[in-house]
Amino acid sequence: MTLSCFELGERMLGVDETLGALAAMTPPAVACQRVPLSSALGGVLAADVVSPIDVPQNTNAAMDGIALAWPEAPPTEVTVVGEVLAGTRFETRLAAGQAVRITTGAPLPDGADTVIMNEQLATSAASRVRIEHPERVRRAQNVRRAGEDLARGQLALAAGTRLRPQHLGLLASLGLADVSLFRPVRVAVFSTGDEVTAPGEALPAAGIYDTNRFSLRGLLERLGCEVIDLGILRDDLETMRWALATAARDADMVMTSGGVSVGQADWVKPALEAIGELGLWRIAMRPGRPLAFGRIRREAGAPVPFFGLPGNPVAVMVTFLQFVQPMLRRMQGEHAWQPARLTALAGESLKSREGRVDFHRGIYASDEAGRLWVNTTGRQGSGILSSMVAANCLIEISAECATVDVGAPVTIQPFGDLT
Ligand code: AMP
Ligand code: MG
Repeated sequence: MTLSCFELGERMLGVDETLGALAAMTPPAVACQRVPLSSALGGVLAADVVSPIDVPQNTNAAMDGIALAWPEAPPTEVTVVGEVLAGTRFETRLAAGQAVRITTGAPLPDGADTVIMNEQLATSAASRVRIEHPERVRRAQNVRRAGEDLARGQLALAAGTRLRPQHLGLLASLGLADVSLFRPVRVAVFSTGDEVTAPGEALPAAGIYDTNRFSLRGLLERLGCEVIDLGILRDDLETMRWALATAARDADMVMTSGGVSVGQADWVKPALEAIGELGLWRIAMRPGRPLAFGRIRREAGAPVPFFGLPGNPVAVMVTFLQFVQPMLRRMQGEHAWQPARLTALAGESLKSREGRVDFHRGIYASDEAGRLWVNTTGRQGSGILSSMVAANCLIEISAECATVDVGAPVTIQPFGDLT
């Protein structure tokens, strides 16, 4: 797909259309590498993991008590012939009606099929125990079957899974010490603008502190990317052209914020056109237009995808979440990813415009009846970053919708892994 069909001056692109176009232009997933389990958190599996063993390995006791070989008649009193602690095995087969004392996790001896917990037992003679409420005892109770969590040969985790703590635990339960992960995507990030000043420096009379490089870095790090922070670019064609071409040499993606409008100091578009191809996309959404997407040519290797995000700090985060995030996840092999969406009731009337998707910053909570409500954080200007700080979700008002009345259902995207 070429970029030119999305050139400025043509019709507005819909949000879904933009997502489709970006999906079609996503480079293949980056290469993979073996990583020890202890540093695999947040990585994406590059290959299916098939269980090499049964988990648990043995049928074992879920309670402390006795393991019993079920007798012919329902048991009331049984003979205890030994003891088995977690980490040991009882090698003799039990005859019907025989039992051994057992601790949680210990393998059931051959012949045993039922565990009765200590709280239901009383000692009647040296090696005899009485069952207090025999009518409550069921054959096969309190037993964890071998392979009931994962059977040997079963798909344990699919390629494309992003590893959370529970995944690490599960991989460890299979005895795996390392896994095959996609390597982190390397993303070069610039801010642009003569007024943009690094935090820590004195603020010039007409300056503004650089916000976007830091929110973008946070988003990228949470996505498991390697950030190449290349600072602030002046509004100058030659500087930008050189800096972007250089950045593309060892990055998998290059990203800027600001400088993509059509003001006289907006040099991102001409810079990109000199070193690759660029489409300036007017997307029917707010906040977040315009957005530039392009590719930077390289002497060796495939061209590098480029995002020219808007300058306003809220627009930067919203466009990253909606458009950059899916591409980065796909480049890391997480193909099936979709943002989480819920439906909430509007706690206030919301204004939008037909034909445009609006993303308000929202706060959702449930009421006593269990209904989910959402309100905006107040003023919604695309420079008001405190709205992102106050929010716990984005409210997504679809293009079909011009206004949302109080009490009407509306889609929200709860803040998740990244925000
Ligand atoms: P631009 O598209 O470059 O005209 O930027 C739009 C608005 O975003 C302007 O008010 C810029 O000052 C502001 N802006 C651009 N880059 C940043 C940045 N890195 N941090 C904070 N504000 C920015
Ligand atoms: Mg600017």
